[in-house]
Amino acid sequence: MPPNLTTEQLKDWDKRYVWHPFTQMRDWQAEDTPVIVAGEGSWLIDSDGKRYLDGVASMWTNVHGHCHPELNRALAEQAAKIEHATLLGLSGEQSILLAKRLVEIAPTGLTRVFYSDNGSTAVEVGLKMAYQYQCHQGHPRRSRFIRLQHAYHGDTIGSMSVGGIPIYHATFSPLLFETIEAPAPYCYRCPLGKQDATKCGLACLAELERLIAQHADELAGVVLEPLLQGAGGMIVHPVGYLKGVRELCDRYDVLLITDEVATGFGRTGRMFACEHEGVAPDIMAISKGLSAGYLPLAATLACERIYAAFLGNYAELKTFFHGHTFTGNPLACAVALKSLDLFERDQLLAALQPKIEQLSAWLQRLAKHPQVGDLRQCGLAAGIELVADKATKEPYPWEEKRGIKVCMAARRRGVFSRPLGNTVVVFPPLAITADELDFLMETLLQSIDEVTGD
Ligand SMILES: *Cc1c(COP(=O)(O)O)cnc(C)c1O
Repeated sequence: MPPNLTTEQLKDWDKRYVWHPFTQMRDWQAEDTPVIVAGEGSWLIDSDGKRYLDGVASMWTNVHGHCHPELNRALAEQAAKIEHATLLGLSGEQSILLAKRLVEIAPTGLTRVFYSDNGSTAVEVGLKMAYQYQCHQGHPRRSRFIRLQHAYHGDTIGSMSVGGIPIYHATFSPLLFETIEAPAPYCYRCPLGKQDATKCGLACLAELERLIAQHADELAGVVLEPLLQGAGGMIVHPVGYLKGVRELCDRYDVLLITDEVATGFGRTGRMFACEHEGVAPDIMAISKGLSAGYLPLAATLACERIYAAFLGNYAELKTFFHGHTFTGNPLACAVALKSLDLFERDQLLAALQPKIEQLSAWLQRLAKHPQVGDLRQCGLAAGIELVADKATKEPYPWEEKRGIKVCMAARRRGVFSRPLGNTVVVFPPLAITADELDFLMETLLQSIDEVTGD
């Protein structure tokens, strides 16, 4: 920090000028929140030099750690060449190289890359693409989407429309287009009352089939977060569910749009979550980990059949009329390319397996805790649900802010985390070390003890 700038000054200006996302600003005004000025590996460093382990990978984006020397170099080298040039009417070296690379690593059949700059737009692009595809196929009535209960696909009007979290979305319902809600295979609280994961998955698939059949002639596609519904509370789907959804989409000829914004780039233990079930979607949205947490970048990948449907004579107006100013930004694409190099060079996916097992062992320990209900894990992501009553699974009243209190207690101990209601989230940078992961889990456990010990 410049020598004449103090922490107090920054905190004061923050409270005076910044409106924070997803934040009750009245509470914020009363709180003392660290101001981050630097980062190093899995750590965030505040303006007083205090270090915090980044337990949520800076909103689920960070992969190789903060301030990574090689990513920094890739960024600086690209900045010395060109910072930005448009893809509207021009092409760019980095966006070409990255698109080729993404197609090489993506699930089979995804052959075309459409860039944007955040997860919400990546999903929204997918929805528009899917609908216009149906129009080009001669099915303009196929304009509706099936989405899951508890779904989260972003905060723009279009991406909220396919969302299913009332606390975020209900206020805006008059602004949203209508979608068809299918039950989420949330086994712990199976919406269809089934007792085990397999039965829950099968029952949810049967209900999905009923909905698809009922709406077949007006459906554009099914949109979902594969395997792991992140913002909905780290809900993990039973094995076979995604594969079942793919089969239904094939049988009824509707498009499958997967939102891998949170799950993509290694989080689940594979490059993309779909790989666990050998599934290839028709459209796939990616963002968060794409540029390793460095810069806003997103992409929507489409299969050749969809791309081809948009080809035609200029006057036929088959063009996909959509695009964002910073589409394919060279700085972000250069960092994304370097990140993919590091995935290979550091054998990151292989190195992840022992950490995933280490996390499982910690969760098994936590399962005995009297105030811990369901524990959900998918790769290096987990949700720890706090319950008022272990036997009845009764959650704490949300107004008690138990999840937030656990995170505040963890912060005092040097861990930054952010909950989803009563669910404590574990979502560290993939490059976290074994010792750091122990510290993270030990700290969360102590903080849970502190906050639930009444
Ligand atoms: C975060 C997220 C989004 C939205 O991404 P933004 O970059 O915040 O717009 C969409 N889908 C999923 C699954 C996400 O986790």
